[in-house]
Amino acid sequence: MNISAKIILKSGKDQSVRRYHPWIFSGAIKKMHGEPQEGDLVEVYDNKDELLAIGHYAIGSIAIRVLTFDQEEVDFEFWKKRIQNAFNLRKMLGLHYQNDNNTYRLVHAEGDLLPGLIIDYYDGTAVVQLHSVGMFKELNNIVEALKEVIGDDLKAIYNKSEATLPFKAETGVENGYVYGESNIEWALEYGNKFKVNWEDGQKTGFFIDQRENRKLLGQYSKGRKVLNMFGYTGGFSVYAMKEGAELVHSEDSSKLAIQLTNENIDLNFEDTSRHDAFAVEAFEYMKDIKDKYDMIVLDPPAFAKHQKVLHNALQGYKRLNQRALEQIAPGGILFTFSCSQAVSKENFRKSVFVAAANANRKVRILHQLTQPADHPVSIYHPEGEYLKGLVLYVE
Ligand code: SAH
Repeated sequence: MNISAKIILKSGKDQSVRRYHPWIFSGAIKKMHGEPQEGDLVEVYDNKDELLAIGHYAIGSIAIRVLTFDQEEVDFEFWKKRIQNAFNLRKMLGLHYQNDNNTYRLVHAEGDLLPGLIIDYYDGTAVVQLHSVGMFKELNNIVEALKEVIGDDLKAIYNKSEATLPFKAETGVENGYVYGESNIEWALEYGNKFKVNWEDGQKTGFFIDQRENRKLLGQYSKGRKVLNMFGYTGGFSVYAMKEGAELVHSEDSSKLAIQLTNENIDLNFEDTSRHDAFAVEAFEYMKDIKDKYDMIVLDPPAFAKHQKVLHNALQGYKRLNQRALEQIAPGGILFTFSCSQAVSKENFRKSVFVAAANANRKVRILHQLTQPADHPVSIYHPEGEYLKGLVLYVE
């Protein structure tokens, strides 16, 4: 293990590290022995010289992302152990070729004690997203560990980090295969087929985080007229069709997304006459849909990427939900989501409350939703909880 610096924290700033929070901010640092470069491994000490943690150094407000709070070597065995633990959890959840499923998040950054690393698994292909230079430097270890841990099931590893690594770090990273090559026709999510295009798609190609919420929607779909807003590749639409919705309309502003939605519907159903898809802007589409639908999904992109725009984001959620609540048919069910990390559960709920009051509808909460178990949240890192959803019954 190559430790390039010893970092001493200011008095009192050790508290959050002792409580296993994985981020150390630059303001907490008293002094540094050594000159760490972006992405180097560093040791963190309190001001009485007690070793508290080992992590990756970064230039920026989060100065250290902690990899371990124990005195241990960060070597190949470390990476293998962490990835093995993550894999075991997904197997325990029944997601690795069980329950007709081979699509899941294998590593969820801080939630798997691996800050800066995301890995999604699609039937033999692991798509890796590196969010820190520290993780970039570990890519070889990560690749080798994945091969050993997953074994024969693993056919390829695709590195998709061009847009996620800090731009100014000049890593020169390019998207591409770092092991094998693969071209699966579809990935399976609870028996539903989805084309996943990790090379050109958003994120790693698919929004795995809505899996359990799509399944829940399926349970309410029979006989309903469903509108799937911000549908991307039509995840919610496929579940609604499968469970017997009377009609399903998918909407997204992206033409490519609508094309992918239609392909996924064709992939799963012989008779697609119950489905239609529209490439239109959301507010434009929702101008006049009065009583046309008795189930609506609102799953917009993150309105607030950071705290500064929080107010505008909350206004956005309010307007959007108000539109839907004003027009959904009596007895309707609204699935509404926010994936903005900067928006708290309470703030999101308040926006929807104001929307309901403005729409003057009688609304009850049936479910409060969040991200699934393959996107775990460290109890010491509440920032990791980003997906929020409400299922509303509208009289
Ligand atoms: N529900 C999807 C994920 C949604 S991601 C799933 O389960 O997979 C958000 C989607 O919103 C993206 O596909 C994006 O193209 C679309 N989008 C962004 N702005 C939009 C707008 N103003 N109107 C309609 N769609 C929009």
